[in-house]
Amino acid sequence: MMETMLDIKALEGQYSSGIYAKRDLVITRGSGALLYDEQGSEYIDCVGGQGTANVGHCQPTVIAAIQEQIQKLMICPEMFHNPTRAQFQARLCGLVPGMQRAYLCNSGTEAVEAAIKFARYSTGRPGIVAAMRGFHGRTLGSLSATWNKKYRDGFEPLVPGFSHVPYDNLEKLQEAVNDSTAAVLLEVVQGEGGVYPGSAEFLQGAQEICRQRGALLIIDEVQTGFGRTGQMFAFQHHGLQPDLVAMGKSIAAGIPMGAVLLGERVTQLSPGVHGSTFGGNPVACAAGLAVLDLLEGQQLPQRAARLGKALMDEIAALNLPAVREVRGKGLMIGIETRGKVAGLLGALAEKGVLALPAGLTVIRLLPPLVISGEQLQTVKQALIEVLSA
Ligand code: PMP
Repeated sequence: MMETMLDIKALEGQYSSGIYAKRDLVITRGSGALLYDEQGSEYIDCVGGQGTANVGHCQPTVIAAIQEQIQKLMICPEMFHNPTRAQFQARLCGLVPGMQRAYLCNSGTEAVEAAIKFARYSTGRPGIVAAMRGFHGRTLGSLSATWNKKYRDGFEPLVPGFSHVPYDNLEKLQEAVNDSTAAVLLEVVQGEGGVYPGSAEFLQGAQEICRQRGALLIIDEVQTGFGRTGQMFAFQHHGLQPDLVAMGKSIAAGIPMGAVLLGERVTQLSPGVHGSTFGGNPVACAAGLAVLDLLEGQQLPQRAARLGKALMDEIAALNLPAVREVRGKGLMIGIETRGKVAGLLGALAEKGVLALPAGLTVIRLLPPLVISGEQLQTVKQALIEVLSA
């Protein structure tokens, strides 16, 4: 067994692209909020597939939906109609009042790319105003909206027309949006940038500025969507009505999928404007339908709100010396520490808890929303031990 494990690490070390820093773990199985390594050791998964596992790993109803679809039809390009896709698009639009149509693709970055293109197409304007600390993906368009130099350096020239304003600074946003602005592109809770929830004032103000200047509001819900923050979508906390919503990650429980919802202020798109060979794949759509059934049927957004708030309050109340701040929304939690988190994440893993960094100093928790109260207590205990050491 040990030998095989070394083989796997060596194989990946030799043949994978090299762009991912890998942890010393070989994961072979998942169930609910748990992951298992090759030797059968169990971990509580607060990486959550980097935000993809909201309904949990290998949920039986998702598996059943995929199996049923995969036996009927695996490939159906958008040149044909398809019942599973038709149903899924309608369900997605039905989640947000005012949404007219849905574009389906295969990842978060593709959803952001498409939203940017649709905003330019719709307004005939080039400008995209995004936020400092924002993260929107790594293909050239979404990378141009992503702020941190560490992702951008070495890849210039990026796409022209992009600018960045400080997150939560309405005055600067007001100055940046003008007659050539196609869209303002924002996360409601900045994820990769360090888990920073935006204020209602800023986000509602951004929407107002867009309306005044004839620009569109694109909300990036790739990480915050599908119940993560305690609402189906994070913008619903603030009563926003975005024009375009980009989504991905948990949308299809791990089957690759992205989507953009298009509101009434977006011009009707015509054939050929954009496209994707795999977009709207019926297997992904079947998984997506099962995800919506689970989120709604088990009230998982409400569960995330309740469990997340309790955990954040409990950790904050301990006033641990290593902790600078606990922030987040629902089960999207950032623990800002007074030092670098790499060692802390290793120590957590040794205690059976997998978590993510957000930048150098923040421990980020994105557990499946089905995580049990008991599992969350184990996570809390491990955090206390690691942060007290
Ligand atoms: N937008 C946000 C807010 C994200 O967090 C991410 C991924 N971390 C992306 C876009 C890009 O998604 P993907 O990696 O699926 O392309």
